[in-house]
Amino acid sequence: MTNILLTPIEYLKGVGPSRGELFRKELGIHKYADLINLYPNRYIDRTRYYKINELQNTTAEVQIIGKIVHIKTVEFGKNKKRLVATFIDDTGQMELVWFQGQKWIKESLKVNEVVVIFGKCTSFNGAFNMAHPEIEQFAEHQQSLRSAMQPVYPSTEKMTNRGITNRTVNKLMQQLFIETQALFTETLPDYLIDELKLISKKEALFNIHFPKSTDALAKAEFRLKFEELFYIQIQLILKNLIQKHKIKGHPFTKVGELFNEFYQNHLPFNLTGAQKRVIKEIRTDMGSNAQMNRLLQGDVGSGKTIVAFMSILLALDNGFQTCLMAPTEILANQHYIGLSELAEKLNLNIKILTGSTKIAARRVIHEELENGSLQIIIGTHALLEDKVKFKNLGLAVIDEQHRFGVEQRSKLWRKNVIPPHILVMTATPIPRTLAMSLYGDLDISVIDELPPGRKPIQTVHRYDSNRLKVWKFLRDEIAKGRQIYIVYPLIQESENMDYKDLMDGYESISRDFPLPTYSISILHGKMKPADKDAEMKRFSEGKTNIMVATTVIEVGVNVPNASVMIIESAERFGLSQLHQLRGRVGRGAEQSYCILMTSHKMSTDSKIRMETMVATNDGFEIAEVDLKLRGPGDLMGKQQSGVLNLQIADIVRDKDILGLARNHAQRVLANDKSLAKPENEIIKSIYIQLTKKKNIWNYIS
Ligand code: ADP
Ligand code: MG
Repeated sequence: MTNILLTPIEYLKGVGPSRGELFRKELGIHKYADLINLYPNRYIDRTRYYKINELQNTTAEVQIIGKIVHIKTVEFGKNKKRLVATFIDDTGQMELVWFQGQKWIKESLKVNEVVVIFGKCTSFNGAFNMAHPEIEQFAEHQQSLRSAMQPVYPSTEKMTNRGITNRTVNKLMQQLFIETQALFTETLPDYLIDELKLISKKEALFNIHFPKSTDALAKAEFRLKFEELFYIQIQLILKNLIQKHKIKGHPFTKVGELFNEFYQNHLPFNLTGAQKRVIKEIRTDMGSNAQMNRLLQGDVGSGKTIVAFMSILLALDNGFQTCLMAPTEILANQHYIGLSELAEKLNLNIKILTGSTKIAARRVIHEELENGSLQIIIGTHALLEDKVKFKNLGLAVIDEQHRFGVEQRSKLWRKNVIPPHILVMTATPIPRTLAMSLYGDLDISVIDELPPGRKPIQTVHRYDSNRLKVWKFLRDEIAKGRQIYIVYPLIQESENMDYKDLMDGYESISRDFPLPTYSISILHGKMKPADKDAEMKRFSEGKTNIMVATTVIEVGVNVPNASVMIIESAERFGLSQLHQLRGRVGRGAEQSYCILMTSHKMSTDSKIRMETMVATNDGFEIAEVDLKLRGPGDLMGKQQSGVLNLQIADIVRDKDILGLARNHAQRVLANDKSLAKPENEIIKSIYIQLTKKKNIWNYIS
């Protein structure tokens, strides 16, 4: 990079201090280099002019030559004003409207002067109007560069109100190219440019801002997207390498007595191929000198628990303690019950710690953890409290990762001088593309095979108006000895209303399925933990036929005899939640069903969600649709979306380029992991620029 690119943006001719301030605040543009990296959102045709009588009610932007003949301020509502100008050409008239920045604009408007206006038109009462148009004097317009692919730049309301239009940014960009003489240095090594037939950085930047042809634009986009994704991958892969080298783990060298004893004599079923493969991956990881950071993905019911248990045995065999953390008390309990059964066979000391553990029991647990005699502790986030100290924690398993997040993960870490190996299990499959861009620094294992003998769950979508038929079906299933879940949405903002829905539902279900023929359980977040457990127990022991619940049962609950899942107001649930809920059934040998109940009123997205659920049981397929519907930021939550702050690439649309970038980044680092070879010097310097990390190389070389 040449120095001129580091010049503060206000020095660019046409910017100045006050616009400079806006650029910094609104778009984060501080230097010349930042402005060059402000890529257009899209391109429009500025060689075509419309007449007022040709206008149509579309969202496309149009430009029209004409003049303003009248300006007035119109009051509307209480204390609200808008500025309205009448604009004419030789075919008709229309209105230009401003809601903001009126004073400034009113002063700048001139009547009876030929201008070119540009913006989106909408029709109202048969007349067209354009809100906040861009206006340019005709003479000036004729002198300016006009293109059939004129870039449209990202902007903000504040910038528009202060008169920084797209036109302004266009001109500034031209100025920038003039001042810098396009002295943009290359940012990828020659061998990659040759191999992938990329255009140069300089050419790419020119064509992204001033495309010479659609072909040149496509090449520029490809080059810049590849580069962006490539450097993200370089960063992620290096982070992983550094972790492996810098952060020493406990090497579990032994596959010992407990593991072998369990494997040979107590395994309750044959492991699936996928389970075996994943256990092997975990064993290799934990056997090395580095700390394991592994994400285990597997659809609901794919059998992650046994994998966790066998990993725990590997740790115990090497003399370490282990913990398993679950997001809810119900789930922690279930794990405790399930794992106790297995642990008993091996005479292991296993205990549970949650918010409702009594003080006396707590004291024992704290003591046993510190003196090392407690081998397995199951719990909720109560495990993270400062009072909980381990003698030698070797492995931490975290179930259902989407409930915790990165913060908690590192809190577990800090409990030891040498951090424990970490195994994060999630039943929310992350689409490959997203996993690559977000978790490229974690190692990922996938269980992509269900235990044998499972019948796929049949899913149907029914409208509320068909409820009678659905109820008849439920009676038939109950008569066959099956049990049923009926789930109501619980969305936090409207918690009280949702609670009312649940209680109303419960009442009407109690009427339709009366005692003594039927008995019903209820479970929701406002109940005391003890009551929740009691209800859950009644249901899992088969004492009640129907479980009416909110989404508290979403995670992990396991009642194999429950074969029908009814989801009420299914249109209000997201896809991954629907899939999670459905996973509560289909755990036994019987044919299971999921019935999605909705009203007739549904948004397009809701319809797609229902259709997707009916069409597939595959969690990864569902996750891909979810990603398309909601976008990556939403899918991963705000906390993690920062990673996805991409300038030009889009991980949904550009997933092929992402794959390509990842492959090349992997190959580059496989051949030269500390980027020491001369041909990789460029990559190294860009990496340092991006991360400000200069001294990592001794860790990995
Ligand atoms: P999840 O991945 O959702 O946590 P679980 O570990 O709870 O799944 O397993 C779901 C059910 O499948 C449990 O009842 C478990 O005992 C059973 N299971 C797991 N693996 C196998 C297998 N290889 N063969 C048969 N049943 C299995
Ligand atoms: Mg589970």
